[in-house]
Amino acid sequence: MTIEINQISELRKKFDLKLKSINDTKELNDLRVEFLGKKGSVTLLLKSLGKLSPDQRPVFGSAVNNLRLEIETSINKKYEELRLLELDREEKSQRIDVTLPSRSKTYGGVHPVSQVTFEVIEIFKGMGFSVALGPEIEEDFYNFEALNIPPHHPARDMQDTFYFKDGRLLRTHTSPVEVRAMRALGAPIRVIVPGKVYRRDSDPTHSPMFHQLEGLLLDEDISIADLKGCLDVMLDTFFGRQLKKRYRASYFPFTEPSLELDIECVACSGKDPKCRICKGSGWLEISGLGMTHPNVIRAGGIDPERYNGFAWGMGLDRLAMLKYGLNDLRILFDGNLSYLLSGRDC
Ligand SMILES: [Zn+2]
Repeated sequence: MTIEINQISELRKKFDLKLKSINDTKELNDLRVEFLGKKGSVTLLLKSLGKLSPDQRPVFGSAVNNLRLEIETSINKKYEELRLLELDREEKSQRIDVTLPSRSKTYGGVHPVSQVTFEVIEIFKGMGFSVALGPEIEEDFYNFEALNIPPHHPARDMQDTFYFKDGRLLRTHTSPVEVRAMRALGAPIRVIVPGKVYRRDSDPTHSPMFHQLEGLLLDEDISIADLKGCLDVMLDTFFGRQLKKRYRASYFPFTEPSLELDIECVACSGKDPKCRICKGSGWLEISGLGMTHPNVIRAGGIDPERYNGFAWGMGLDRLAMLKYGLNDLRILFDGNLSYLLSGRDC
């Protein structure tokens, strides 16, 4: 076996020629395998050295080794050149356009009813009230009996109330928390009770679940003037202007005397006979209220001879509807985010 010296120079020429036509690092890698890989031309040549006679071996050995080194050096040099070109190409193709508008972010928002609830709580806190909360699954005693609602009162009707098999019920108003608060805190007392209540009702202005805000104040020598003062301040602050109000005589089992409060229509102030909010009447019913019945105070464990006071309830959903000009209560509960997130502070 012999190796012709020109075999080496042929290989070198072949390599040089191929190297010139290489355009990227992948082609270069293929070329490396072709010449220096396990079965590459130079590797095979190196392997064949062992078969040479001892006098041939040093000459050809050093010549093949030189070829291998030259090829390695050329490939490494070419690799650096190609890599730079490729990086340059990548950079150009991925250039960031800093003038493009950024992706907008969607933020969550506070539900209109929660927002109204927080606002009303803040107003009453300013008048010294604190917040009391109670269970939504309630006992008959707290929901009815302690509130002076006798066993045969129509409010207990199955048509109005969701009952459980064990006799408990979904509270129909936030008033049971008044009794629980009186029992827990005693008198004098100033609490407001925001929360969910449940009745068998569903149409554009009634939902089977809705939100109420109840209030109770008991102290010595409290009069209806104190009650009117509290509600006047709350409503004028909430709607941002002084509204006309009228108090009408009414009846509730848990207050005596009982009243209902109307405010002037916040949409038309009574000037639009076709107003869809007040139906042309100019007035909006906003709250039921009255001086707390002595029987209720007694059920709360407080002496009605010493302490008296007042209570009121209002619909938070109704306040939200009036504030945001809605005519269908169900919009508040059907989860349409484009409405629920539009235009209000988060
Ligand atoms: Zn109106």
